[in-house]
Amino acid sequence: MSKEIFAYIEHHDGVLDDSALELINAAKKIDESANVVALVFGTGDNLNKACEEAAKTYNTVWKIDKADLAYPNAELIRPMLVNILPKGSVCLVPHDTFGIDLAPGLSVKMDVPYIPDVVGIDKVEGDKIVAIRQEFSGQVHTHVETDMANGIVITIRPGTFEPDESKGASGEIVDKSADAGDVEAKRKFIEVKEAEAGDVDITQADILVSVGRGIGEEENIELAEELAEALGGVVSCSRPVVDAKWLDHSRQVGTSGKTVKPKVYIAVGISGAFQHVAGIKGNPFIVAINTNPKAPIFQVADVGVVEDCIEFLPVLTEKVKEMK
Ligand SMILES: Cc1cc2nc3c(=O)[nH]c(=O)nc-3n(C[C@H](O)[C@H](O)[C@H](O)COP(=O)(O)OP(=O)(O)OC[C@H]3O[C@@H](n4cnc5c(N)ncnc54)[C@H](O)[C@@H]3O)c2cc1C
Repeated sequence: MSKEIFAYIEHHDGVLDDSALELINAAKKIDESANVVALVFGTGDNLNKACEEAAKTYNTVWKIDKADLAYPNAELIRPMLVNILPKGSVCLVPHDTFGIDLAPGLSVKMDVPYIPDVVGIDKVEGDKIVAIRQEFSGQVHTHVETDMANGIVITIRPGTFEPDESKGASGEIVDKSADAGDVEAKRKFIEVKEAEAGDVDITQADILVSVGRGIGEEENIELAEELAEALGGVVSCSRPVVDAKWLDHSRQVGTSGKTVKPKVYIAVGISGAFQHVAGIKGNPFIVAINTNPKAPIFQVADVGVVEDCIEFLPVLTEKVKEMK
């Protein structure tokens, strides 16, 4: 196996995504002795800032500066990666919206296997890797074995590997822009449109009472609002609640919603799909209320309540009021 493992680093205006610190530990799980190389694409000051930040964690940082990459475009980055990655490379990419766009096509162009949405590495023996994935909304773990002798592309689910926050490296930044070549894309970046701010900013709340499909119907959201009010928190939600138009998109937690960092997160009738859980950062105290004792949310919860939320919420709200 190659002694280098490559990690695709995401950044937004030069600020590293949380996944940047997690991929290095995923790589170390594959090969403790490998030199993990950060791949950072972008342009100008933002790119320089991201590279300098990545060099605090990675011993080697490959910088690819292209004017067209002010905003990441998988159609451009894919062929550039093929140009710069040595044959037989192991390449890790975050399993988020951008990674899902980039990685499958990259594996096709590199003609190597692709393992998507990996949550753990079971073992590596020679060129064989056994990676752990989840099926049926996280209720079943599958172990996927494949050969990485000719290279491999793996997407790593955000939040599943511990971040390396040591900032112990002072890595070398190597400019690979010329090697990446000049490529063109049909897809052009036009502009970033920030989502409209909602009436409540869930990203600033210390206590979130978050409702999912299990709340049953729109009228029942009032039960969560009463609990949130008693606790001094606010109501957030999972995507199906937004899809049903019961709450505004500004309240949605998850990969296609907001990233929140509360101190307490009460998940009401939420199954715990990774797209939802990936939006909960900062290691809050999680209370999960769910009728299904096998719901994946219980894997991340500090306290699990197996109850019908419609019956349980009013009781909990009363208790909170009494304690006050
Ligand atoms: C590209 C992409 C992006 C996505 N982005 C997001 C995102 O940003 N945020 C997000 O949330 N999802 C997102 N999703 C959807 C995600 O995959 C899940 O489908 C969604 O999170 C499930 O929401 P839920 O847990 O509310 O519903 P379900 O998965 O249907 O779970 C409902 C839960 O309620 C429980 N329940 C039922 N009745 C009761 C009751 N009376 N009392 C207590 N518990 C009860 C059930 O046991 C179940 O566990 C995305 C999906 C894709 C493909």
